[in-house]
Amino acid sequence: MTRRNMIFGISIISLCLIGGALTFALRPDQDNLPSLASEMGKPQAVQSLKEAPPATPIESIQQPTAEVLSQRVTEYHIDVSLNEKEGTLTGSETLTWTHPGKKTVNELYFHLYPNAFASADTTFMKESGGKLRGDTMPKDGWGNMELTEIRTSDGISLLHRIQYVQPDDGNVKDKTLVKVRLPVSVRGGESVTLRINFTVKLPKIFARMGSAGDFVMAGQWFPKLSVYEPVGTRGVTTEGWNLHQYHGNSEFYSDFSIYNVKINVPNNYTVAATGFPTKAAVIQGDRKTVQYYADDVHDFAWSASPNFVYAEEPFSSPDVPGVRIKLYLDPTHKDLKERYFYAAKVALSNFSKWYGQYPYSTLSIVVPPIEGNGAGGMEYPTLITAFGAGNESPSNNELERTVIHEIGHQFFYGMIASNEFEEAWLDEGFTSYLEDKLMEQEFGIKPNLPLQVAMISSPISLTQVAWKYGSSDNYAKNVYYRGKLVLLDIERQVGNKTMSRILTTYAHKYRFRHPTTTDFQRIVEQVTGRSWKPYFKQYVYDGKMTDYSIDNITVNSISQGNDPLFESIVDISQIGATAPKIPILFTFKDGHTTRKVWSGEDSKVELKLQYKEPLAWAMIDPDYSLVLENKHINNFLKAEVDGTLRTRSNLGIVKLLEAVLGSFLW
Ligand SMILES: [Zn+2]
Repeated sequence: MTRRNMIFGISIISLCLIGGALTFALRPDQDNLPSLASEMGKPQAVQSLKEAPPATPIESIQQPTAEVLSQRVTEYHIDVSLNEKEGTLTGSETLTWTHPGKKTVNELYFHLYPNAFASADTTFMKESGGKLRGDTMPKDGWGNMELTEIRTSDGISLLHRIQYVQPDDGNVKDKTLVKVRLPVSVRGGESVTLRINFTVKLPKIFARMGSAGDFVMAGQWFPKLSVYEPVGTRGVTTEGWNLHQYHGNSEFYSDFSIYNVKINVPNNYTVAATGFPTKAAVIQGDRKTVQYYADDVHDFAWSASPNFVYAEEPFSSPDVPGVRIKLYLDPTHKDLKERYFYAAKVALSNFSKWYGQYPYSTLSIVVPPIEGNGAGGMEYPTLITAFGAGNESPSNNELERTVIHEIGHQFFYGMIASNEFEEAWLDEGFTSYLEDKLMEQEFGIKPNLPLQVAMISSPISLTQVAWKYGSSDNYAKNVYYRGKLVLLDIERQVGNKTMSRILTTYAHKYRFRHPTTTDFQRIVEQVTGRSWKPYFKQYVYDGKMTDYSIDNITVNSISQGNDPLFESIVDISQIGATAPKIPILFTFKDGHTTRKVWSGEDSKVELKLQYKEPLAWAMIDPDYSLVLENKHINNFLKAEVDGTLRTRSNLGIVKLLEAVLGSFLW
């Protein structure tokens, strides 16, 4: 999911405020103090990679290939019908699960995600307060999912054998996870088939799924099997179900599957979906049924609207064998086709080059109407949503950024498929990292790292389960920003080329395999040929940040002849996690400067400098190269400033940071 899109625009403004305020507040008499000024490059005009062929008005029909890329644990055949007047879905699902482990299994567990919106008492609603990324639950927007029948392939009804379970918080009002006891146990390697009938009352959109006017976003809309993890999957030592409810700050985790889905909608609706249609729409009166197929994916989403403006283009590049890019635009953005196509093409071609071939034959982009904005900026396999079309011509490349971010997810969330409940950073942190890389390469926009790191006021372990970060703000700051900054910090230490090798190796090795943070650490160690245990312990598992401080400067005259000579003593302490190579800049009264690099290993150090003039000021990390140093405020000290005054002015700046940044994020 994309962070709230307005942050970028606002952060540029606030950056100027903060950069200016900080520089002003800290400015010594000498003027060569590095500033926090934005490194925003000038966005270049978006140009098409090549001349676009005329838009195809009808969606192309495709067929599955024989290639099998993943362990297809589950197979879904779903028939679903949209009642657009009632805002409901009626579905029947035939699900076949092949037991991937060894122990006998007596029950299956299903995610019933729409029940997150059933009342104010669900875990999602209690944790989120009915808000996500600034979108608020509309009045009377409730939705839910009901299982109306569950039968075995022999026709035995299991409806009386279901039990809602709440493994994360014991909230009995939460019905987003259900256990179905089976009449016959399933042994390792055996398959079981269930037929499930269900209805969904679509919530009014504020958090990913639902309806807004006649726009429908069906994400997490069908009873979806939980993941059964055999020994070895994500390092588990005891096989079993990985069970979590739907939380305010959590996304998803599923097995790779085959999906065959028939969707019945009014004749005048256009449907977008994961995968591709395998036959032309079947029209019956004023209704039509489209049939979609997808494999080697772990979710299936669809969207429908009578207003979509459709366009389709084929695309290939050296690392993309052939994909049809499909646009389903809200009419407000009907003239922005080229921007969407361009962003999709640069994302597909570059990410395939960096992280391995995009193996699917389609990539669909849904652009919701502005009232469906809560469904925007979201990733599903082979289908992404852009933010709601509120502006006829979004500026600052936010349109491109969202498309690039969500397509980036195809390579991490989509193919690598980590457990987003338990290790969200493996998706959002990595995706934010590659989003920045491509935004800089294509549009010359550099992230403002000093600003972003300064915002991380409550660093927490990156292997924290998603719903325990507290506020959505803190979740986003850790999972998106801190996660990304950890990757950038590793890159700073090993260099660009080695970092590319690390990520390429990781992305290739763990494609379709649900890796963990430990797996990533192992790749870092293999590629660099050394242990990263202390680093991962501090920055990844323990949630620490870099924090070095200049505590005191003492200047003594030590002149013994006619020539003046001063010894300046600078006391430095390590408050946070360790970092190798701490650069320090010293500036003397006459403007003379010198730099030193300290190993940063000890908790305290006393640095002595002799020069004909007294030291004027010293600054740790003058070039902001310590990516995870989030308290730059104590990095600077002027030699003669009175201690009380210094404390007070620092406090003032911290307050300013909180005031300007704290109120509008996510
Ligand atoms: Zn995301």
